[in-house]
Amino acid sequence: MIGGGIAGLAAAARMREERPEAEIVVLEGSPRIGGKLQLAEVGGVTVDVGAEAMLNRRPEGVALAHTSGLGAAVVHPATTAAQLWNRSELVAMPRTLMGIPIDLRQLAETGVISKPGMARAAMDAVLPATSLDGRDTSIGALVEERFGREVVDRLVEPLLGGVYAGHAREISARAAVPQVVALLDRDRSLAKAAAQATAGPISDLPVFAGIAGGMGRLPAAVAAASGARIELDTTARALARRPGGGWTVVVGSADEPRLLQADAVIVAVPARAAARLLSEVAPAAALELARIEYASVALVTMAFAERDFPAVHGSGFLVPPVEKRMIKASTFSFAKWDWVRQAGNGTLVMRCSLGRHRDEHQLQVSDEELVELALTDLADAIGLSVRPVDHQVQRWGGGLPQYAVGHLDRIATVRAEVGRLPGLAVCGAAYDGLGIPACIASAHLAVASLLDDLPGAAPR
Ligand SMILES: Cc1cc2nc3c(=O)[nH]c(=O)nc-3n(C[C@H](O)[C@H](O)[C@H](O)COP(=O)(O)OP(=O)(O)OC[C@H]3O[C@@H](n4cnc5c(N)ncnc54)[C@H](O)[C@@H]3O)c2cc1C
Repeated sequence: MIGGGIAGLAAAARMREERPEAEIVVLEGSPRIGGKLQLAEVGGVTVDVGAEAMLNRRPEGVALAHTSGLGAAVVHPATTAAQLWNRSELVAMPRTLMGIPIDLRQLAETGVISKPGMARAAMDAVLPATSLDGRDTSIGALVEERFGREVVDRLVEPLLGGVYAGHAREISARAAVPQVVALLDRDRSLAKAAAQATAGPISDLPVFAGIAGGMGRLPAAVAAASGARIELDTTARALARRPGGGWTVVVGSADEPRLLQADAVIVAVPARAAARLLSEVAPAAALELARIEYASVALVTMAFAERDFPAVHGSGFLVPPVEKRMIKASTFSFAKWDWVRQAGNGTLVMRCSLGRHRDEHQLQVSDEELVELALTDLADAIGLSVRPVDHQVQRWGGGLPQYAVGHLDRIATVRAEVGRLPGLAVCGAAYDGLGIPACIASAHLAVASLLDDLPGAAPR
């Protein structure tokens, strides 16, 4: 495996299940495994400073926690009641699917959308059906066509900002809300399609899960369960096919390269790094991967003395860009996760995220300035008037892939070319979804695609 993030580690664990006798090696370029899953101590409390939750309504993340020995630590948020910063005050988040309203009556009650905006949104029920005819479009364009601009600006943008750190008018509708797009032909109302996509028997399950002690515990547990040999500080620089079958991976410096031989290789690194590795062996795939843009974000995690902290509601809030604030989301980690509150024992830990695709310049200030910017916005949002007892700033440069319009076709092109090369597969956040369960699913797909190419496979 090249890449020791959750995708590479999940691939190693799945390969161990499929081939118990295999020698599995994970090459990780940095000094630690886990990629975007990372823990740090803030105010004496060890918390996540990267991904902090996983979807519970698809099975892969929670299942991996169980098979890695962390089943007993799987927890669900104490509250998921999020709020929205709307016209300078916090209001209850309307019910939506990625910002697509599900219930216009409830949306009207929240007061998030103006009266003229609601009148325009109601046209969703009567406008002629939107047919994509197999095309892709941006989720912003789709929602604007059905509900008007205000719904995009005030609902879709903050939701997409939270998940992709991206922009509604650039992110692919087919990638971001495939279940809604699939239903578009059945009913002309997008609100009805979104409602249908969220209904069904599984909707009784909590939407999210986490791990007591932090999602950042998962990588080490998965690595241990995989029995893989982990090589840290080992950046893969090039890939070459061996004449007799199998692969050579070049690691080490240009002056002192080291060649590793493998029957099969899974490339589980971000798109640009994958593009570099594939440029010789799968040039068309490399070209497509190189075109995937990434957003940079920063997380400011702060610890406060409980007695100083104002009363807050719910798990946190999202901020639409039209509000022209610096933070795009804030999570009251102490309220969302019981384990964070308990570990704090009188210290409350919370975090703010800043940065969107192409707004990287906003992050080009010192850590201290980012903390000040977060505090200014928190003062206006929740009336916070005290300083944190401790803080930590985690920058995730190029942290989140942007699924632009046409993303699914792009990935199909990548997989088609890589799939023609025996013993090679790709997985990770750039492909089928950037959430943790989607990354794990892509790892499972990568392993399944290789099994026939490994020694001992039944002849085809
Ligand atoms: C701030 C933030 C918050 C998030 N929050 C959530 C959340 O709450 N829930 C959720 O589901 N998802 C969340 N995500 C998304 C999710 O965490 C990531 O999409 C996912 O962890 C990516 O996993 P990965 O293995 O594909 O990639 P990565 O985590 O990027 O791992 C790739 C690894 O490959 C290594 N590498 C790169 N190049 C090479 C090379 N040439 N050779 C060897 N190693 C190399 C890197 O050092 C890295 O360790 C969040 C993401 C960010 C940035």
